[in-house]
Amino acid sequence: MITDPTGSPQSSQQPHWPDLATLNAVTGRLRTRPALVPFSETGRLRERLATAAAGKAFLLQGGHCAEMFGPDALRQVDGNVTVLRQMARIISYGSSLPAITVGRMAGQYAKPRSRPTEKRDGVELPAYRGDAVNGLGFTAPERTPDPRRMETAYDESAAVLDRIRALTARRGPSSGEGDGEFYVSHEALLLDYEGALVRTDSDTGRRYAGSGHMVWIGERTRQLNGAHVGFAAEVANPVAVKIGPEASADELVALIGLLDPNQEPGRLTFITRMGADRIHDALPTLVEKAAATGSPVLWVCDPMHGNTRIGDNGAKTRRLSDIEAEVRSFVEIHRALGTHPGGVHLELTGHYVTECVGGSEPVAVEDLGRRYESACDPRLNRSQALDLAYSVADLWGR
Ligand code: PEP
Ligand code: MN
Repeated sequence: MITDPTGSPQSSQQPHWPDLATLNAVTGRLRTRPALVPFSETGRLRERLATAAAGKAFLLQGGHCAEMFGPDALRQVDGNVTVLRQMARIISYGSSLPAITVGRMAGQYAKPRSRPTEKRDGVELPAYRGDAVNGLGFTAPERTPDPRRMETAYDESAAVLDRIRALTARRGPSSGEGDGEFYVSHEALLLDYEGALVRTDSDTGRRYAGSGHMVWIGERTRQLNGAHVGFAAEVANPVAVKIGPEASADELVALIGLLDPNQEPGRLTFITRMGADRIHDALPTLVEKAAATGSPVLWVCDPMHGNTRIGDNGAKTRRLSDIEAEVRSFVEIHRALGTHPGGVHLELTGHYVTECVGGSEPVAVEDLGRRYESACDPRLNRSQALDLAYSVADLWGR
């Protein structure tokens, strides 16, 4: 439990903005911009997620760990959309379930960090917190948080969404049911940004996060009385919470009470990220006790964040075999308990990078330095992502 002495909820993982006048000017301007996504689409995603919670659809959520600003990143959107749609087709075909495709895209610009600073060769600077806050370059000017970056995050999100819409527009009567649907999601971490983009639907009076269709609260910011859970409780979007191996069943039950008190299907997703070696010990009790509340929560497996290892060169990596093992255990556990394994949440790219180890076009530990391009965590490359889609199709098809 964290509360400050005034009793107001604490906002963890927020940047120390150096200049409050600029901050206020930026959030003031953001409040005048339109929501990035229409309420109708956000409502539709909620309905679609309700079908996944009932075991009648599969949620495929994925994209970069951290999106970046600029033309290179925008050019990568096509590859990411393509690989996600290929995976959705493979999984749909193998599992006989419709896939709901949700990018970690068009807003994934803020990162929680385990340490507030980073040290290199005796120099200590603020940690990189995502392009919406500061720059990746290891210099003092780059690493100083700049609130104007939040306006760039809005503009970049709009450009990414525009590209996604161009790529996924229905192309005629032969398009299958759901074929053109593609939703976007990100971690609702940066509360100055998220708060400035909340909009009220005048038809229903409901308040929505206008920054994306679905938002999630991370493992580091899901304190029950923290400001992030408070934010998620106030908006009507589908919301998710990341759940790590240290979470208690009581915490999950409390999260259900705070975020989905009326037990509405499609509203709440738990994205479990346990690690292949811990999922068998950690997950079953959580699922059993959460299910005992009668909550229609959607269970999704993030097999990335519990399986991060530090390679010999000091960079983070993950093994595809660990990722597949966690997904397999996730399915087995839910099948044994009679609950539905609802989908997967992945860090991936449609391009050829060497960040995770393994796969049918194998990346070896020695290859990791060759094309390690992630601004944050290691992603599956296109080939590894398709390998995983075939394993997922097989597991859900059984
Ligand atoms: C992430 O999704 O990049 C992340 C930081 O995850 P988690 O909150 O589960 O650690
Ligand atoms: Mn990550």
